Amino acid sequence: MDIVFAASECAPWAKTGGLADVVSGLPRELAKLGHKVRVFIPYYRQVAKAVPDPPVVLKSVTIPFSYYNRFARIVDGGNAHGVQMYFVDSPEMFDRESFYGTPSGDYPDNAERFGLFSRAVIEATKVLGIPDVFHVHDWQAAMVSVYLRSTYYFDPVFRHVPAVLTIHNGGYQGTFPPRTMETLLLPWDMFTMDKLEHYDKVNFLKGGVIYSDAITTVSRKYAEELQTPEYGNGLEGIFRRRNGDLFGILNGADYTEWNPAIDPYIAAHYTADKLAGKKECRRDLLHAFGFNGVSDETAVIGVVSRFATQKGFDFIVEIMDRLVQQDMVLAMLGNGEEYYERQLTEIAARHPAKVRVQVKFDNVVAHKIEAGSDMFLMPSRYEPGGLNQIYSLKYGTVPIVRATGGLDDTIDEQPDGSGNGFKFRGYDASLLMTAIERALGTFRNKKEWTAMMKRGMAQDFSWSKSVREYVRVYERVIQNRS
Ligand code: ADP
Repeated sequence: MDIVFAASECAPWAKTGGLADVVSGLPRELAKLGHKVRVFIPYYRQVAKAVPDPPVVLKSVTIPFSYYNRFARIVDGGNAHGVQMYFVDSPEMFDRESFYGTPSGDYPDNAERFGLFSRAVIEATKVLGIPDVFHVHDWQAAMVSVYLRSTYYFDPVFRHVPAVLTIHNGGYQGTFPPRTMETLLLPWDMFTMDKLEHYDKVNFLKGGVIYSDAITTVSRKYAEELQTPEYGNGLEGIFRRRNGDLFGILNGADYTEWNPAIDPYIAAHYTADKLAGKKECRRDLLHAFGFNGVSDETAVIGVVSRFATQKGFDFIVEIMDRLVQQDMVLAMLGNGEEYYERQLTEIAARHPAKVRVQVKFDNVVAHKIEAGSDMFLMPSRYEPGGLNQIYSLKYGTVPIVRATGGLDDTIDEQPDGSGNGFKFRGYDASLLMTAIERALGTFRNKKEWTAMMKRGMAQDFSWSKSVREYVRVYERVIQNRS
């Protein structure tokens, strides 16, 4: 099969979250199965820094807008692990400080930026080769599906080419003012509530859900949740309508990157059979965060996350006064919403012996936390898939999670302690606190704790199973459109 991926992130070039890991990991697994995979992402300033002078594959593709045409180059990002990378180069759109916006808000021309990106991918394939299937990700690439069935409707080369949309986070939909229809030269008769319009806005994700041949999301539970008012973010009706074409496929972990036996970023290597290295990693982590004199009996709780309400930071802030009374230290890494950056920094300043926070995006520190912590905290309000809890299991770091989406699918708490972690339901900070207390209670029983660590380490969340589920979805949509 010939598959073209279009996405706004791909590790290691451009990453703010799990999307980047999936767009990096899944194509490699597909390539291993013998499929041809090409991945397109924007040529952001950060990508240009890493790949400053790439060979130009297409000197100019034309993207018409209402005001004038724009022109993008397609450059060659190289072929690694059997996957061909291409970057869409449009300096006026992507040579900017960050991917989506500044702390004060999204870039005002994001509809044009990702509209251009989506059309450039379609145009590029007309020269570089039409794939058997497009696999597009989140709202930033969802317009590929919309364009294929509107602007490119009469193009015979795409008539039998299906598109699959994967939703990594339904909370971000790409909504823009109605005039976006004109700017992107989309016909006004698509601005209706059964197509692109949603509460008087153009909604890219909704368009993707309606016009894609199949929709997948990153856990089975989240596929169910999306169809409910609680988690559907207003699109639950559309998800229910597409229920027969909606699939939940759990994200796989890339164990060449996240594996304590070979991880180059951690102080010592270890496995379930030889856990001594984890102690060394714990010492290294405590040192990196400036904690002193922490006894072996004190639990080290780690957090690696975007600082956002989605991730349950309001719960964490709410329980902080009770948490610092416990025999634990909390090491947090993250950045994002200014409100939480400030709140958590203030809390750390008040309790320097118990709570430390590093406000930044730092892959090395993320690895150190996974390896050096005893527990990993992830009390998300919603969590489509979640990767960090899966990485934590591999590192023998016991997850404490809220039972939602991929967290609910992967973390299992049993009354007799035979699960792989701790979880709570409901939207109540005190339920998080009691889950942490349960974890701390088990932590005091070294035998039980070590058994739980080892159970998690033995679990396999690699791509090998999920990749086959994606292949089945591709085969299905190709057949339906042939
Ligand atoms: P989301 O995609 O919603 O942010 P996931 O758990 O699916 O959440 O994926 C998060 C990914 O981003 C993980 O690989 C995690 O290690 C990484 N990550 C998140 N925040 C940071 C940070 N501040 N520094 C380094 N890595 C981070």
